[in-house]
Amino acid sequence: MSYAELTHAELAALRESLEQEYARHCAKELALNMARGKPAAAQLELSLPLLDTVDASSDLFAEDGTDCRNYGVMDGIPEAKRLMASIMDHDPRNVCVFGNSSLNIMYDLVSHGFLHGYLGEKPWRELKDVSWLCPVPGYDRHFAITELFGIKMIPVRMNENGPDMDEIEALVRENDAIKGIWCVPQYSNPGGVTYSNDTVARLASMPCAATDFRIFWDNAYCVHHLYDTRQAHVADIAEACEKAGNPNRYFKFASTSKVTFPGAGIAAVAASEENIAQIKKRVSIQTVGYDKINQLRHVRFLKDAQGISEHMKKHAEIIRPKFELVARMLEEGLSDTGCASWSNPDGGYFVSFDGLPNTAKRTVALAKGAGVTMTGAGATWPYKEDPEDSNIRIAPTLPPLEELEQAMEVFVCCVKLAAIESLLA
Ligand code: PMP
Repeated sequence: MSYAELTHAELAALRESLEQEYARHCAKELALNMARGKPAAAQLELSLPLLDTVDASSDLFAEDGTDCRNYGVMDGIPEAKRLMASIMDHDPRNVCVFGNSSLNIMYDLVSHGFLHGYLGEKPWRELKDVSWLCPVPGYDRHFAITELFGIKMIPVRMNENGPDMDEIEALVRENDAIKGIWCVPQYSNPGGVTYSNDTVARLASMPCAATDFRIFWDNAYCVHHLYDTRQAHVADIAEACEKAGNPNRYFKFASTSKVTFPGAGIAAVAASEENIAQIKKRVSIQTVGYDKINQLRHVRFLKDAQGISEHMKKHAEIIRPKFELVARMLEEGLSDTGCASWSNPDGGYFVSFDGLPNTAKRTVALAKGAGVTMTGAGATWPYKEDPEDSNIRIAPTLPPLEELEQAMEVFVCCVKLAAIESLLA
């Protein structure tokens, strides 16, 4: 029965039995982690053959004759550009393959806007106010970048089609301090939402007071489907921007962090010809070049879009049961309490969970007390400030299934306990 329908005495009795259950969980002295979206060891093993694609006897020349052992080619070998272009829906000529981290490229581009300005526009450091749109719930590491630069972050609610476009259009039309937006357009982090075609078209075409407004299109989960039969594919922001007459409005990002090895993958940026020219000019001063041997390894292992798709199916086989376990345990444990809602994603790495207002921090603290580490409450909002204190990001991929089951038992107990405490308060 829904908690809202229970009497004070019934709630108090339920609290007592939940406190006993919680004490039993604590006694197990668990040490489980559902905090970060890391692949499990079994997923990392899928990519071990990548390490065998290159050894001392290998041909270490790229297809254009570049000696990958040496300096040279700052923006990626052609076959690596082609590989990344195939998952980024882009012309390989306007793709740069850099180091191991797409987040690092995003950081550099925010820094570029700040220090130098985009395409002849004023650097933001010379402006009094710089603001940024942050769809919420969103990715904490995006928010950390804009926070570090002192950029004022404006939260915009996500719905099932992406961020609230009415709100965004009204904001950017009026306010020329708004210089950009963070977007995870497919299987968003953490909501698992894929932006609708209409959302993509409106982002590309909306009138913006800031002429240097940029969409940071972080398609980190572009090939990370959980189901063969339900594969999302977000519309191409580049095509939409070109069609709308705003060809320079976007930067696309992707990496193989959750395809091969996080921290040892390859990352890329794709953009218009003009933006790419400016990026190359700056990066050629930042570095002589990135790790081309790793680019070779990736091409030899993954081959092409088809190769990536087959590889990702193996990932899905490992993580799909984890997502299904989380969905089942939330459903069984919480659906009749009326005090929680959650996402059921078809891809990506997260489940977004909402408890009653003012219970997320308490839930995460209770879980921690019982040895289960969750992502910090508030992490999905700019400045870590969830005004309702209700959202928690669940990251089910890292723990083995048995551990995940134990962790979810604890989590469900903590959600219920926090909800009853708040109803009795
Ligand atoms: N973007 C999003 C949306 C992510 O969830 C992550 C990883 N958690 C990253 C970027 C990090 O990507 P990379 O390893 O390429 O820096």
